[in-house]
Amino acid sequence: MSILVVGSVAFDSIRTPSGAVDRCLGGAATHFALAASFFTQVRVLGVVGEDFTAEHEAIFHARGIDTNGIERVAGNCFHWTGEYRENLNEAHTLRTDLNVFEHFQPKIPDAYQDSEFLFLANIDPVLQHQVRRQMPRVRMVCGDTMNYWITGHQQGLARVLRDLDVLLINDGEAKLLGEEANLVRAAERIMRMGPKALIVKHGEYGATAFFGDHSFPGGVRNRFFRAPALPLAEVVDPTGAGDSFAGGFFGYLASQPEITPGQFKRAMFYGGVMGSFAVERFGTERMQALSREEIDQRFASFQELSHFDAE
Ligand code: AMP
Repeated sequence: MSILVVGSVAFDSIRTPSGAVDRCLGGAATHFALAASFFTQVRVLGVVGEDFTAEHEAIFHARGIDTNGIERVAGNCFHWTGEYRENLNEAHTLRTDLNVFEHFQPKIPDAYQDSEFLFLANIDPVLQHQVRRQMPRVRMVCGDTMNYWITGHQQGLARVLRDLDVLLINDGEAKLLGEEANLVRAAERIMRMGPKALIVKHGEYGATAFFGDHSFPGGVRNRFFRAPALPLAEVVDPTGAGDSFAGGFFGYLASQPEITPGQFKRAMFYGGVMGSFAVERFGTERMQALSREEIDQRFASFQELSHFDAE
């Protein structure tokens, strides 16, 4: 089973209460791909500039990720500059330099046409839509977006939402998109825009899934499911937590023969596990050093964290 991900492959300059890094490898597609690669085969569609070197590419290859869909053009990679203050759940964007993404026209390599799963990572909704249209036969499509696109690119986003199976967004973004201060009502409004299910990420507090009438062929008994996040004594850099959550979630689902409500919930736990690792170091550092064994151990901690037997 293969996941095709389209999104930013970037350099990030980040300041957090724990320190700062300048131009470390990042980007939504990068964080997603690294996390998902622990569960399934991942292919990346994106664009980079001359500042993306063989060393950067080796980070993908070390995890077996297919980078043939990353186009190289003159110029510099997408560059995001941001900071986190006391509230680590809230990223403040200081600069967004689209650079090579400004003129990106996604072309899907023939060898990627048989991808069964598609992840539209955070990127211009116009590009997300172009990719979606070129992959009409995929089994499942998940997507992500952020306030930058919700406020400035509504029309393009509305087109993408129409044919999404699952949308993953932060709670603040869900309220912005649903134009509703109440999350349940915001979620209902968003599902009416297209997505069959919605996952709302609450940063250090976990994530909630909202299900609708079309989420699963047989319907669902409960409309909500909440997966925890692991309480951590130190969060070094929250950048990429959301994409790593998405990678764990979708990577696990793609590795399963069938997508049932039970598997969906389990996948949310794997999302939480991957997000919790991502924030332990700056950039992609933690994912590069991670092992499958650590993932399994942390999955067990997540189960313990949220399980009890009535006495
Ligand atoms: P998250 O997982 O939500 O923390 O996403 C972090 C990644 O998103 C960073 O590595 C950034 O490079 C990337 N990013 C930030 N802003 C944008 C944007 N407007 N479009 C695409 N990618 C972005």
